[in-house]
Amino acid sequence: MRPPGHKIHCPSYRIFMSDSSPLPSAQERLESLLHFPQQLLLETTSHCNLNCSMCARQFNPRKWGNMDEALARKVIDEVTSRAPDCRIWFCYFGEPLIRKRAGLFDRIRYAKDKGLKRAAINTNANLMDERCIKDMLRSGLDEVYIGLDAATAETYSKVRIGGNFGRVVANVLKLIELSAGKIKITVQFGVYENNDHEVDAFKEYWSRHPVHIFTRPKLTWCGQLDDIIKSPAPRHACAWIFDSINVNEDGRVPYCITDWQNKLPLGDIRNNSIFDIWQKKVIPNIIVHARQDWANVPEFCKKCPDWQAKVPRDKKLLELLAGMSPQL
Ligand code: SF4
Repeated sequence: MRPPGHKIHCPSYRIFMSDSSPLPSAQERLESLLHFPQQLLLETTSHCNLNCSMCARQFNPRKWGNMDEALARKVIDEVTSRAPDCRIWFCYFGEPLIRKRAGLFDRIRYAKDKGLKRAAINTNANLMDERCIKDMLRSGLDEVYIGLDAATAETYSKVRIGGNFGRVVANVLKLIELSAGKIKITVQFGVYENNDHEVDAFKEYWSRHPVHIFTRPKLTWCGQLDDIIKSPAPRHACAWIFDSINVNEDGRVPYCITDWQNKLPLGDIRNNSIFDIWQKKVIPNIIVHARQDWANVPEFCKKCPDWQAKVPRDKKLLELLAGMSPQL
């Protein structure tokens, strides 16, 4: 482990995500992971315009709010100075386009002007009108993931409650037209009990358009929703904790992205750097997972089934991490 403040040029590699480019060596991948997260979720707002059936916002909500500009810039400044390859998602809970007229795109532009390589949002796209798309393009946004989760208006209305399927599809088609390849567009289908019959139709429709198609299994949000995994495998390291770090709108950093209640806060960006939280708090937990030392994960993590929803792909990296001590 490097001492806090030690700075190296160390690009972030996409360790757990499909990528056709050749991977660097296992040792380089380890160096990268130990240095800084590959992805950071910066919660623009935790408010939302929908009430989706799969979202943990429906349970015991924390106090919702918007991230203030000074806090966001503190994070952006750190990411762009230490690891500009780290992908920043300008969202976590909440719908980022709620802030489309309240500084979201100026914030993204600021990050891009500071050298951020990959700026992304995940949106339900109900608010993504033509003016918004033009602002997205001006901001330098690189990637948009659009949560659709349905191939028909009927199913959409059961999953994405409060949204308008026809409007969203039209908005996506307008985005395709206006962005003309400048923004990477991914349409997303989270597979749940009430929509799994439409996965094939969804793929069939969107395969006719120049978008990426992403399906993903259901998250239970640490067991808050029913677990629908049908064939449980022997427990493996949880890729969610390796994959990213998230900063809530108030600056607090939870244990992992499914720790939506912040049961185990790892730090607060108002007082700590991402670098310190990652190296001192997250990496030891990653090593515990790699070692499959389940006795030493938090109680809620012991009971959480969400490790089954994502499989770590980099076995060699896991081996190297498993050989390390969490007391670094
Ligand atoms: S298994 Fe643990 S690390 Fe993985 S998502 Fe659940 S609480 Fe987070």
